[in-house]
Amino acid sequence: MLSNKLKKETLIAHLGEERGKYEGAVVPPIFQNSLFTFDSAEKIDDAFSNFNESFIYTRGNNPTVKIVEEKIAALEEGEKARLFTSGMAAISSALLHFLNTGDHVVCVESVYGPTQRFIKDYLGNKFNIEVTFVLGTLKSIEESIKLNTKIVYLESPSSGIFSVQDLSAISKLAKKNSIYTIIDNTWATPIYQNPIKHGIDVVVHSVSKYISGHSDVVAGVIVSTKEIIDQIFNREFSLLGGKISPFEAWLILRGMRTLPVRMRQHSENAWAVIEFLKSHKKISNVLYPGYESHEAREIVRKQMNGMSGLLSFEIDTDFDGTIKFINNLKIFKIGVSWGGYESLAYAPIISLSKEMTKERLEASGIHPGIVRISVGLEHVEDLIADISQALDKINLCEV
Ligand code: PLP
Repeated sequence: MLSNKLKKETLIAHLGEERGKYEGAVVPPIFQNSLFTFDSAEKIDDAFSNFNESFIYTRGNNPTVKIVEEKIAALEEGEKARLFTSGMAAISSALLHFLNTGDHVVCVESVYGPTQRFIKDYLGNKFNIEVTFVLGTLKSIEESIKLNTKIVYLESPSSGIFSVQDLSAISKLAKKNSIYTIIDNTWATPIYQNPIKHGIDVVVHSVSKYISGHSDVVAGVIVSTKEIIDQIFNREFSLLGGKISPFEAWLILRGMRTLPVRMRQHSENAWAVIEFLKSHKKISNVLYPGYESHEAREIVRKQMNGMSGLLSFEIDTDFDGTIKFINNLKIFKIGVSWGGYESLAYAPIISLSKEMTKERLEASGIHPGIVRISVGLEHVEDLIADISQALDKINLCEV
């Protein structure tokens, strides 16, 4: 057994891998089986009496999946982790686990859109669960707590506007009021932020992003104490059945091997792109954690030890100029996900323009020139040149 005290890079390489069991194979096999068989009735009965740990049926435990779960739990400094079929499966299962009819959730208003919809529309309409969306400052959360508040749901940094929340202050406040805290930690990854260390109860990730890192998997994970994860295993995991396939777990394992190295490069590339954007006359603003205020910078410094490659910027242009910019990018592909090896760009205006008229959009105060990019692992000089040539194509009448 490897010690969990080893550095993250070493844990990723070796934790949870019992190579002696697979003829010394350096890469664990994909246990692509639905069930496990036993030599006797007594042995299957023993397995059932240790249901949370036994290999019985792949909707429960599977050896390939377990290796990844052990690694992610250790990286997050949590006791246990469960992989799910998507980030949303993990998020919805975590929320369903804690919430009952009539409960109240305090949720940061900039969290991932489908999470907001799940809490407000699905849980709200079906189970009469109330939500208050807040800015995410300690004060805004404190002022929203009610007697029936069960969960404070955070996403820090948030993946839309990159706002940050003070994890240790919020977790202290929540504990004082017997409220559970859940955080979506997808942006920072377990390499750059470990919320459990700051008192947060439950961490969720879209593993589809940096953790798997190659844009070939959709998956999610919940990390928490053994007690909470075992309860989730017996209820939301086993009963709703959102389990991941062993093959996808194997792809995550393969992708994770390089997570710390990739994160360093995403970060380095992102900072170089930001430097370029900052000095460009057609860029009016850059959105990145800690960028907007001194206070946010202090929070970043306190609870994070690195930055990832997802950021937004505002081009000093209108709707048509933004679309023109996006369409002229050559290396950055147009797409909504992020965290993979490849650079991506997306402008919120693309979908908003379907929902609102141009006049309403202009009146809404939403900046028409906002573009979100996922800075990938290509050479950064090529990425900057790509942005630069696409900005050049926005002619003066649109700026
Ligand atoms: N959380 C964040 C911050 C996301 O950006 C996403 C997906 O884009 C999710 C959760 C949902 O993850 P998945 O797409 O794996 O269900």
